[in-house]
Parts: sequence; C-alpha cells; structure tokens
Amino acid sequence: MAAEMDVMEKIISLCKRRGFVFQGSEIYGGLAGVWDYGPLGVELRYNIKQHFWRKFVVERDDIYGLNASILMPERVWEASGHLDSFTDPLVECKVCHARLRADQEDEIRAHEEGHQKKGEKVEWSEPKVFNLLVETHLGAVENEKSKAYLRGEITQGVQVNFKNILDSMHPKLPFGIAQIGKAFRNEITPGNFIFRDREFEQMELQFYVKPDEKTSQEVFEYWKQFAMEWYLSLGFKEENLRFREHAPDERAHYAKAACDIEYKTEFGGWKEAWGIHHRGDWDLRRHSEYSKVDLSYFDEEAKERVIPYDIECSGGVDRAMLYVLLEAYTEDELGGEPRAYLKLAKHIAPIRAAVFPLLKNKPELVSKAREVYAMLKKEIPNIAFDDNGNIGKRYRRQDEIGTPYCITVDFDTLGEEKPEFKDTVTVRDRDTGEQKRVKIEELKDLLK
Ligand code: ATP
Repeated sequence: MAAEMDVMEKIISLCKRRGFVFQGSEIYGGLAGVWDYGPLGVELRYNIKQHFWRKFVVERDDIYGLNASILMPERVWEASGHLDSFTDPLVECKVCHARLRADQEDEIRAHEEGHQKKGEKVEWSEPKVFNLLVETHLGAVENEKSKAYLRGEITQGVQVNFKNILDSMHPKLPFGIAQIGKAFRNEITPGNFIFRDREFEQMELQFYVKPDEKTSQEVFEYWKQFAMEWYLSLGFKEENLRFREHAPDERAHYAKAACDIEYKTEFGGWKEAWGIHHRGDWDLRRHSEYSKVDLSYFDEEAKERVIPYDIECSGGVDRAMLYVLLEAYTEDELGGEPRAYLKLAKHIAPIRAAVFPLLKNKPELVSKAREVYAMLKKEIPNIAFDDNGNIGKRYRRQDEIGTPYCITVDFDTLGEEKPEFKDTVTVRDRDTGEQKRVKIEELKDLLK
C-alpha cells in the first residue's frame, strides 16, 4: 500500500512542479477541495474535453451542444429534487469533532484506526442529513427571494432548455443534448487530490428517447458501451476499467437503471469515473409541473404528445484527468538511467512535440530549429521550443510531461558534411527512446 500511495504523491508533486495543478488560493493557505490548473493542466483538460465534444457532438448528427449558466434559482432545485435529496449522511467524531461521510467506509475505518493508535476509541454522532448544494444570493437585498444556487450538477441546465432546443432546432426523437461545464458541491470530505472537489467540471449527454421500456433499455446499453469505448480511447488498459451496475436500492428513486464505469485507482481500489443513468421522465415531468411550461414532445407518427425518457452519460473532467495521469505515470530505465514519464495518449498530451537545436550556442542550429518550429506550429499549435540545458535533460523534461516526440536539429540537418542528410532531423519517440532521421517536409504528417 505504501508504494501505491507513493504514486499519487509523485503525481501530485509532478503536477505542481511542472505546472499542471496547483492548490486553489495557495498563497493564502489554500481552499480545501478547490484546485487551479496551470499551463499544462489547461492543455490536458482542453484535449480531454475536445475529445469528448468531438465524439459526443461534432461527429454525430443527433446531438446538440449547449452551454447553460452556473447560477440557477431555487425553484429549479426544488423541481429536480435536489433541495430534498441531494444529501450525504454526515457523522461527527466525538473525540476530535471531525465530520465525515457515514457512507464512506474506508475513510471511517482510517479515522478510527488513527485514534486507535493513540489508545482512543471513537464514538460517532447519529448521522445527519447534509445538503451539498452551494447557496448564494443575487441582487442588493439578501432575502429568501434572492437565493440562488451554483449548480450541483450540469444536468438541470439541459433539462430547463429542453423546450428551447425543440423550438429552435426541431429535432426528432431520439436526440441528445450535450454540455461541458462547472458544477459545485459542498462535499463533506473532498480529497484524494482532484478526485473529489468542491468545484469541478462535468461532461454530459442527456439523450432523449420515446418513453418505451424496451427501446430505452437498448439505448441505455448503447450509451454504456459508447461511454466505455470513449474512456478507453483516452489511453486506458482494458483491465483497469469496468462496469458496475447499481443495485436497485442504490439508485435514485426515479432511476430505471444505473451503471458506473469504474477505474482501478492506485489510492483506493475501484472508483467511479463515469455514470450512465436511465432517468426516465423524471426531470422533464417535474420541470413541466413546477414551471407550468409544457415540456412534452409531439410525436408526429403516433400523433400524440409524450414526455421522453432521458438516458444520461455523466463524467467528471477533473476525475478523467486524474485517472489519465495515474494510468500514464510510468517509471522505467532508459540508457541505464531511471526515469519517470507520462505515457499519455498522443492526442491528449499537452505538448505534441518539442523542437530543439542540438546546441544553444550555434546560431545556425538555433535559426534552423526556429524555422522548423514556426513551420510546425502553424499546423499543429501545441508545439514547444526548448534550448535550455543539455539534450539529455531536455528529453527527460519532455518525457516527464508526456510529450510524444522530440525533434532535434543537428549539424547533419545543415548538410554541410553529409549532403545526403540535408534537411532531415532526428525524431525521438518518448516511450522507447528510439531515434530516427526524418525529412523536415514529412514531419507534419508524422505528428498529425
Ligand atoms: P460520488 O458518489 O463519488 O460522490 P456521484 O455518484 O455523486 O459521485 P454523479 O452525481 O453521478 O457522482 O456525477 C457524475 C460524475 O461527475 C462522476 O462520475 C464524477 O466523474 C464527477 N464528479 C461528481 N462529483 C465530483 C466531485 N466532487 N469532484 C470531482 N468530480 C466529481
């Protein structure tokens, strides 16, 4: 276990040192459960989100994109049931007054063991219901009417726009609405780095189908498989992901089926990555009732109005990023020396390739390398230039942040002594360390 914990610690340290993730408001002591993303973290997240958008929206003709607001009035959360049931059971340790989630057995056990080591026996308070919604007030007067909430899930922004999508895009069932955006939860025990946060980002699809039990179960199966394939395409080994069906007593009361995709984490075994939920007609029916706006769909064929069923795919961006980092972190030996590197899938690596002049103090090498860099950057924006330190150090620095290729301009590139190598460079592969000579004009294709 100790060695396993180390991996998480190494990733946290790498993320801070190399500009992926910083503690939120760190210079003021930090804010628990809140993280800031640095230059490389932003790129990695952007690539994950873009990959989601491409597969769930752009490459399809039955899914529409949406960007709903973060602030929503209280009535929305009454309708969705969150005011009553978006809760976790909270217990308080009577010895040290720490508050934990009663349903997180591992954390409860670890807390008890901590006290036992000091000879103390823990007693817990009765569980209290704790609502996770983050409340705020809008406007100059603070009263019950000014109350609003930062959304606890991005789903409701889609449900309240269902009619807008019907009226503006005139889609035919089945169709989906996808969204990426921030959500906020007053988590009792945020932790495990960016695993459980109080501010985080979600990527979601709500896919609406005719309210038919058999068809909707088939569609549910389809999206389960689709979500799994999407997750695998971020570079995961099959044995590290699995489905876990929810038992009926675990599901929201309105859910007709629910399944998680779980990842085998280094820090706590199998943990949720992504949820696929059959929400039935719960959300649209409730919002119709509470808003008094008809959210039904007119089925042309059957000539009847129906409230569609909703199959949801919901995943966290921060969590995907953490799992991607855990999966990619690799230690091996290269050229007789130990190294640590991120074996990131090429399409999500923050930097696709780095261009180097072999020596920093040879102007002809530097200017040629700058030329190659500028040429590539026009086509593939996430290209870096580095002339700092010796070439071995530069390789290690790029390996550590997961850059798939390093391109070096050397004396052969200039072709002065060996004309046959003129306008070729060496391309080094991150995973194997192998180098090959490639014509500059072929680089774009190679990198794309
Ligand atoms: P948990 O039981 O772990 O708190 P949940 O079942 O409440 O999670 P959902 O409401 O189904 O989670 O949210 C969908 C997805 O959003 C999750 O699979 C996860 O990837 C992400 N997510 C949820 N809560 C958080 C959080 N506090 N921090 C980061 N990501 C989160």
